[in-house]
Amino acid sequence: MRILIVEDETSIADGLKFNFEQEGYEARVVTDGPTALELLNDGEFSFDLVVLDLMLPGMSGYEICKEIRGFNENIPVMVLSARSSSEDKAHAFDCGADQYVTKPFDLHEVLSRVRNLFKWRSPDSGASSAMRQSAVFEFDHVIVDCRKFQVIVDSVEHTLTTMEMQLLRYFIENQGMVLSRSRIMEDVWSQSPDITTRTIDNFVMRLRRIIEPDSSKPKYIHSVRGTGYKFINE
Ligand code: CA
Repeated sequence: MRILIVEDETSIADGLKFNFEQEGYEARVVTDGPTALELLNDGEFSFDLVVLDLMLPGMSGYEICKEIRGFNENIPVMVLSARSSSEDKAHAFDCGADQYVTKPFDLHEVLSRVRNLFKWRSPDSGASSAMRQSAVFEFDHVIVDCRKFQVIVDSVEHTLTTMEMQLLRYFIENQGMVLSRSRIMEDVWSQSPDITTRTIDNFVMRLRRIIEPDSSKPKYIHSVRGTGYKFINE
């Protein structure tokens, strides 16, 4: 598993690199956006995760994230930033980030989130065999391929980000159940303190735009007033 760290503060970058390597990952540090994008676009290297600072010289982390999504929809992007307002977080998610961790961060939390991401992505790591077997779900005119992060709706292909995929899969696997926002937060985002209920609503809005025939009258992802959501497929 290879991690690209985009961070201009040497002490943070080196600390992350050291700890990622202790975990058995390969890690590479770059200090600015253009270098990061060049590496990610270079066929010679392939990365499994981008850890991204927001405040960087020249190009901001937001811009970098948007650029990455222009050519790679599903590489997980974890933002690490001292900015902690909900606007900043919402903006980062809108730019395609999958995770948002505020600085100063708890290293154990970062490492456990990285392990979770990799568990999900690697077919022969921690994922259960049941999870691997049911990688493709089909309902009505929708085909969800969790391995490829792909949703096909009426023959039109959509690529999801890692967290969009995890959330959709979570809904499908728990269909018919009322899922509260706090439970979704705990189960899908491992109770990250940086995820707010608004983040979940934004993710749901994006999923609805993809899978619902009419996202203003959801057929699959129903809102349960005051609680959360319920996925129905019948
Ligand atoms: Ca910085």
